[in-house]
Amino acid sequence: MSGLSLDKLLKKAENKLQNVHEIVQEKSYELIRQAYKESIFVVITEGFRSIEQQHKLYSKGRATPGSIVTNAKGGYSYHNYGLAFDIALLDDNGEVDWTIDRRWKKAGEIGKRIGLEWGGDWTSLKDYPHFQYTFGLSLSELRSGKKPEKQTEKASRVLIEYGGRGNHVQLIQRMLIHLGYSLSGGADGIFGSSTLKAVKAFQQALYLQVDGIVGPKTLEKLYRNFNKTMF
Ligand SMILES: [Zn+2]
Repeated sequence: MSGLSLDKLLKKAENKLQNVHEIVQEKSYELIRQAYKESIFVVITEGFRSIEQQHKLYSKGRATPGSIVTNAKGGYSYHNYGLAFDIALLDDNGEVDWTIDRRWKKAGEIGKRIGLEWGGDWTSLKDYPHFQYTFGLSLSELRSGKKPEKQTEKASRVLIEYGGRGNHVQLIQRMLIHLGYSLSGGADGIFGSSTLKAVKAFQQALYLQVDGIVGPKTLEKLYRNFNKTMF
């Protein structure tokens, strides 16, 4: 395997996932991670597509030259709402390899295991590279302006903040210490002012929103930076 580190794949993905819903982003990172364990190298080729871009794409092979690439008009694709992404698979040399083989099926299975819908299951026009997460919203609901929750029910999501205690707190403290942030009480499992300061410093350093709360984005960055220093 020629230098195709997981970290590299995750970084590549990050660039393509701008304006994609953060929960969908998390799922795509999870897909990349789990596929990597099976020696399947996933890159994201496209995430958010504006309605205007979708119109242009739809015109291709219809009003403009070329062959038809989509049946979805502007506003008729989950990409237009930041709820879909497309992948490609790389071979061992890091080249895109479009051979539809068992790796694609496996990638589809992994995606479905983490709650995504896979275009490879579609009956009319199979779209192997495509994954989406709809939050139960139809395209017509989305077109009429309905939006998925920014954060799904908070209860099921980890939010670690000032005043919190327990294993979650201890875990992030360990990572912060490992990353060079000093905590007066060490990894004591209590989210006090020194932990708050460290979290804010970390968020600032990584251009995250500096709110001192460890939500999904901060947690993801913590894990990623921590893992980077482990290998
Ligand atoms: Zn797609």
